[in-house]
Amino acid sequence: MIDRVVVVGAGIGGLTAAALLAKAGLDVTVLEAHVYPGGCAGTFYHQGFRFDAGATLAAGFDPAGGMTRLGQALSITWPVEPAEVAMRVHLPDGARVTRWADPAAWQAERLAAFGSAAEPFWRWQESTADRLWSLALRGVPWPPQNPADLARLADTGLQLAVAAPAHLPGLALDGLRPVATHLGQAASRLRQYVDGQLLISAQATSQHANALYGAAALDMPRRGVAHVRGGMGKLAEALADAVRRHGGRVHYRQRVTRVARQRSGIYRIETGKDALFEAGTVVFNLPPHDAAGLLGEDAPPSLHRAMLPADGWGAFMVYVGLDDAVVPAGLPLHHQVLVREPLGEGNSIFLSLSLSDDAARSPAGQRALTISTHTDLRAWWRLFETDRGAYEAQKAAMVERVLDAAEVAVPGLRSAARLILPGTPVSFQRFTQRSRGWVGGFPQTNLLRAWGPRLGPNLWLVGDSIFPGQSVLATALGGQRVAQSIAQGLCWAKHAPGQGV
Ligand SMILES: Cc1cc2nc3c(=O)[nH]c(=O)nc-3n(C[C@H](O)[C@H](O)[C@H](O)COP(=O)(O)OP(=O)(O)OC[C@H]3O[C@@H](n4cnc5c(N)ncnc54)[C@H](O)[C@@H]3O)c2cc1C
Repeated sequence: MIDRVVVVGAGIGGLTAAALLAKAGLDVTVLEAHVYPGGCAGTFYHQGFRFDAGATLAAGFDPAGGMTRLGQALSITWPVEPAEVAMRVHLPDGARVTRWADPAAWQAERLAAFGSAAEPFWRWQESTADRLWSLALRGVPWPPQNPADLARLADTGLQLAVAAPAHLPGLALDGLRPVATHLGQAASRLRQYVDGQLLISAQATSQHANALYGAAALDMPRRGVAHVRGGMGKLAEALADAVRRHGGRVHYRQRVTRVARQRSGIYRIETGKDALFEAGTVVFNLPPHDAAGLLGEDAPPSLHRAMLPADGWGAFMVYVGLDDAVVPAGLPLHHQVLVREPLGEGNSIFLSLSLSDDAARSPAGQRALTISTHTDLRAWWRLFETDRGAYEAQKAAMVERVLDAAEVAVPGLRSAARLILPGTPVSFQRFTQRSRGWVGGFPQTNLLRAWGPRLGPNLWLVGDSIFPGQSVLATALGGQRVAQSIAQGLCWAKHAPGQGV
């Protein structure tokens, strides 16, 4: 029984942990409420199109990248192809900045867009990110939760001190200050560009995003960006296949409604289908407040104060089925459009097209398009719960704002749209079970705020609420840390004298 693990949720974090634990020989069951895996990084079918539900841009697929290594560990061949361009950013002054994956092309582009005065910022960002990513890929046990984590962190600090002693004070200070410190009096074009990029990667702009986290997050385009054939959901499907291949189970349409700790220490997991599961270890692929809701009075002290955070975001989505003819040849697949500040609420959008030859994503001659904008989830719920007519009107108005912004990247898009499907935080709650449609994890403003994955005895958290936060790559890294900790813990438990569960 101690070897039996139930994972609640088939998001990227949960599936990564499940597949690695199954490979380590544990008895693993994943319970997923929906009919397909991936959660915020899933791909859904609608009227002949396969739309990416949330995540569209995949990173970590360079030869030494986190997703590449995960694939090797689980014998997964990811259905990806390298992207030359991570994205194109359209700035409020009309400038367009193409984020090339190739370092020389990117340097030429940024010099042309931001001038040589911005180079010290980029040099700081890239050198800091290089140091952090080399550590992150080895696993940073942040925040530390036991003596072993502390020892590994101390070792990490030592490695940094030996490799780059002169940089240690700067790195330590960056742990406490925002990215804006490094922008100084930078021209507004650079600040706007950085703010737009940080909003989608750190969920906070430069005034608030922590400098260490921000440097690493701004580096995503240099970290093996790839196009996923068939849609982002193929990554989750490949992980679910790996769970099964290694002897585990993935059950869909199983929404977990209660997790209770029995006197024996074994957890009893109930689902809406009246099915019952038992496990020695439970891994929640949910935000902490949702895990607390499932545990109720059995929640460990670490979850007692977990509630929907006052900050953080919802997402407003527009899924568009588009005539391919309107898309110029060679147009990058991903675009960020910054129309005006404050960002979000349709003033900034992220837009992604399916590959032109990806027949699985759309009917012939058409493309699947996913557009998102950050939005205040509480305002949507207020309308939804008090005035359904106003909610629908606000939805229609937001679609127009989002499409106006999207026209900057793909002129003629509106008239070439054959299908337009909006989604609000209400939709996100329905399809990902995340209460109030709170997505993207905690804004990365303070490293001390990060949740650790261990919640209590044999209770674990994975997903974008734990360090290193949101994104497919980050949640996969978090899932790996949890799998490693559980496997090691069970190994000790098995060999401890008197262990008899
Ligand atoms: C609009 C948007 C755009 C994004 N863009 C990108 C991007 O371009 N690139 C990128 O890398 N990342 C992006 N992200 C972030 C990325 O999608 C997430 O960080 C990541 O997918 C979250 O994974 P997770 O492990 O936290 O699980 P989640 O995605 O939260 O999935 C959790 C799963 O658990 C299931 N579940 C929940 N509760 C229960 C229950 N009680 N019982 C059973 N099952 C349950 C849900 O149905 C869901 O399938 C984006 C996110 C959003 C919202």
